Amino acid sequence: MRVKALETLLVEKGLVDPAALDEIIDTYQNRIGPKNGAIVVAKAWCDPAFRSALLTNGTKAVSDLGFYGRQGEHITIVENTPEQHNMVVCTLCSCYPWPLLGIPPSWYKSDAYRARAVRDPRAVLAEFAVTLPEGQAVRVWDSTAEMRYLVLPMRPKGTEGWSQEMLAELVTRDSMVGTGLPKSP
Ligand code: FE
Repeated sequence: MRVKALETLLVEKGLVDPAALDEIIDTYQNRIGPKNGAIVVAKAWCDPAFRSALLTNGTKAVSDLGFYGRQGEHITIVENTPEQHNMVVCTLCSCYPWPLLGIPPSWYKSDAYRARAVRDPRAVLAEFAVTLPEGQAVRVWDSTAEMRYLVLPMRPKGTEGWSQEMLAELVTRDSMVGTGLPKSP
């Protein structure tokens, strides 16, 4: 309601064009989305040189693939390993890597997620039906306007010899936020 009220005021005063707002929302909701991130993840699984470039300078590696723009100016890729699972939150608001994942889901913006992801990440993961092996640490990354994160999940077992396109189908949005794991083959 507050957003709607603000939008109405801004439009009435002629400060924003409602068609431009619709265009921005449509772009990030329908034309840009987690499919972009999935391409990045699947490529990293197949191409060791790309994976290493991605971990060294995420912003550059993804922009070389054509994924750049608003809310994607500074991106760090955090890699899951058997020792460490990564999870992303924005405790302050809802910072998110738009060019790779589109617009954040409503739970990502909720007060509950933003507070509890930090305080008790394993309980939050359990609610997403994710149970990690006992020895695997959880590291929570707090996004800001200066830095946004994308999780590089571990490649699922049993996918040896799969093409990049097939692998991309296993990569879910939540697996790139760290609240999920890739689908099983
Ligand atoms: Fe934020």
